[in-house]
Order: sequence, then C-alpha cells, then structure tokens
Amino acid sequence: MALEKLGKALNNALRKLARSSTVDEATIKEVVRDIQRALIQSDVNVRLVLDLTKRIEKRTLEEKPPAGVSKKEHIIKIVYEELTRFLGTEAKPIEIKEKPTVLLTVGIQGSGKTTSIAKLARYFQKRGYKVGLVCSDTWRPGAYYQLKQLVEPLGIEVFGDPDEKDAIKLAKEGVEYFKEKGADIIIVDSAGRHKEEKSLIEEMKQISNAIKPHEVILVIDGTIGQQAYNQALAFKEATPIGSIIVTKLDGSAKGGGALSAVAATGALIKFIGVGERIDDLEPFDPKRFVSRLLGLGDIQGLLEKFEELQKQQEFSEEDMEKFLKGKFNLKDMYAQLEAMQKMGPLKQILQMIPGMGYSLPEEAVRVGEEKLKKFKVIMDSMTEEELEHPEIINYSRIKRIARGSGTSTQDVRELLNQYKQMKKMFKSMDKRKLSKIARKFNL
Ligand code: GDP
Repeated sequence: MALEKLGKALNNALRKLARSSTVDEATIKEVVRDIQRALIQSDVNVRLVLDLTKRIEKRTLEEKPPAGVSKKEHIIKIVYEELTRFLGTEAKPIEIKEKPTVLLTVGIQGSGKTTSIAKLARYFQKRGYKVGLVCSDTWRPGAYYQLKQLVEPLGIEVFGDPDEKDAIKLAKEGVEYFKEKGADIIIVDSAGRHKEEKSLIEEMKQISNAIKPHEVILVIDGTIGQQAYNQALAFKEATPIGSIIVTKLDGSAKGGGALSAVAATGALIKFIGVGERIDDLEPFDPKRFVSRLLGLGDIQGLLEKFEELQKQQEFSEEDMEKFLKGKFNLKDMYAQLEAMQKMGPLKQILQMIPGMGYSLPEEAVRVGEEKLKKFKVIMDSMTEEELEHPEIINYSRIKRIARGSGTSTQDVRELLNQYKQMKKMFKSMDKRKLSKIARKFNL
C-alpha cells in the first residue's frame, strides 16, 4: 500500500474522533493537530500543511452537517474533501486518441524511469494496446538490456542499439520502426544520465522537437519528498504536454511530501509506482487514493481489481462465489492465496472494501512466497478428504502429514491456522456489501 505510515496516522486521527463521546472545539483542534503531525512526518511542506489544516478547522467549526449526517461523519467528509483537493481532485488518465500515440519519458538517474516504462507498457498491453518501446539512452548501454529483460517475456518489443551514440537519431528511427509495425502506443525512453533538472529539460526539448510526442512524462522519485517541487515546476514550465509519474510510494516515509509538492505546482500526476514488480503501477485518482489512505474503503477500486482478475482468468466465478461467501476448503485457500499473490497482497484488496480499513489482522492475510511454497509441499501430503474437509485433521493426521512432507507439526499447524483465520475473517465480513459485489458479477 502506498503511504502506509501516513495512512495509518490519518486513520488513527479519525478513529480518535470516532471514539470521542462529544465533538466540541477541543476535539476538532486535536484531530486537526494529529493530521498536521501526520502530514509533516510525511515531509509535506509546512506551509501547505498549515493552509490545509486551517481550511479543515474553519470548515468543521463553521459548517453545519446536513440533516441525517452526524457531526463526526461530516468532519470525516471534510477531511476527505480537503485532502483530495490538496492532491489535485480529478483523475486524468493518459489519452490514447491517435494511432500511434507517442509518449516520451524523462527522469533523473535512479528515479525509477526504466522500471516505470516497463510498467506503463504492461499497463497498456493489458488494456489491449500494441506497445513498442524505444530506448534512446545512449549514455547507459545497460538501459537497453534492462528494458528488454523486463518486457520481452511479456512479448513487448524494444527498439535500440547500445552502440549508437546519437540519441535523437535513435529516437526518430525507433518511432518510425514501430509506426511501420502498426503499434498503437510508442513509448520513448530518453537518456538517464541527468543528475539535475536543467540538463534533463534541455534533452527533453531536443528529443521532443525531433519526435513530436503526444505527451511527455516526467518520472519523479517519491522518496525525495517535498524536493519534488522544483523538478515538477521546472518541467511544467518547460512543456505544456507534460504529466508525471511519482515512483516508490510503497514504503517511502516522504511520499506524502512528494505527491503534495507535485500537485502544488499544478502538474498532473497520472500514475504512481507502488512496488518493484511490473504490475505495481496505479493510475492516480486523488479521490480513490485519499479514501484508501484514510481507510475509508474504495469499492470502485475493489471492483476493478476483481475485473482484472477475471480477465486473467485466474479466478473462476465459482472461486469468486466461495471467496465471497467464505465457503472454502484448503485447496481453495491455496488457489486464492496464489491468485492474490499474483495481483498484489490480499491485504491491498481487502483494504478496498468499505468498512475493512486498517482493522485487518495482519497475519490472516500476509502470506509470503516462501510460505506459500511450504503450504504447497504440506498439502501434497494430505489426502483428498483432508484437503476438502480440513476440520477432520487431528493430531495423528498432523504428525503423519508433517512426516510425509518433511516439515514439522508446527508448520502443518500454521497452515491450518491460516486457513481458520481466513475463514473466520471472510465470515465476519459485511455480508450485505459482499453480496452487492457478488451481484455485480452475476453470481
Ligand atoms: P532509472 O535509473 O530511473 O531508470 O531507475 P530504475 O528503473 O533502474 O529504478 C531504480 C530502482 O528503483 C530499481 O531498483 C527499481 O526496482 C526501483 N523502483 C522503481 N520504481 C519503484 C517503485 O515504485 N517502488 C519500489 N519499491 N522500487 C521502485
């Protein structure tokens, strides 16, 4: 999850509000102070924080909640609205209007540019577009091989020549090459040698003049926090067709600072990088982002994830039904953990269900790759009956399974505990909301 720490701190502030018996001026001031502290710890610029929290405080003290809405709910809504405004309000996806659409990417060394290009290519490929990548990084021959390694297994072609020294020539040739091949989207990678904005923007202008891209995308490292302001501003001033990807928002303590600094320049953030894997790229939508950050749940995001899963056909409708109703045996659990692992942690999905927020028991949903492998080995030593009706597994069966799989009885117990916890968790989920999701999928 992006900005987990900030999300937890904001969520705690709202929980404190939910728990308080009265909502008076002192309570509101305390919530506002907690929000300030959370944002400043995430490296958000102090002036921006003060502006934002002043607005929250003013609105919560002056506005009256509409009929049927409690004061607390009203405050939560104001916090949500102001934080959303703070990050730019609207989602603006990259438009693919013409064929081919040419995108040029630029970024400072180490920003995550190469990885982001591969992720972008994957993102568009999944949506049915034919994508070609052009590597015009003449500075770092390794860049060409790095890109190839990332996308060739997916069947995405990379045009480049590590021996060529003329970046402009390479970019032009690459675009022509993919035009002839009938690509829908051509993504051009520029040199990654820049350590500061000036030379980066100079190169961007030169390549832009040569290939006339539809959009130029600046990749910014989210771990630099509010320092992202200068980069984003210089970029925005240099090109009217620029947009931004902020990377490394998973685990970064300063991600809130980076996002708010970029938004403050008025430059558009179109995607965020949330991990090292090729699928760890999310279209940036401030509304969805903030509702997830606050732990308010995001039903739309959940549905999209499920839809994507369905497209990949890793989850049959039958599985989905079992998942939603909490009726599943060990085999189902394994299949689901495996599918979830492919599309990102289960926790991330469950976080999107309204009302679940941060209240999830970590251990019920966090299963690493190693553990999953061990589960498989253990399950291979179980009988069909045991897999389908895990409740019959008693101590002597545990001993036999452990011996048969070369694991310990503790390992077998861990698998059974995982199963019990998941089952219990699904059972305790809000049935009404789950059945709404189920209906959406015609279950
Ligand atoms: P470049 O020099 O700008 O092309 O950067 P790279 O694409 O080679 O990325 C530099 C490092 O950042 C690599 O180790 C990437 O795996 C890592 N990275 C890129 N994007 C993300 C992200 O969103 N999250 C995390 N955790 N790591 C990332």
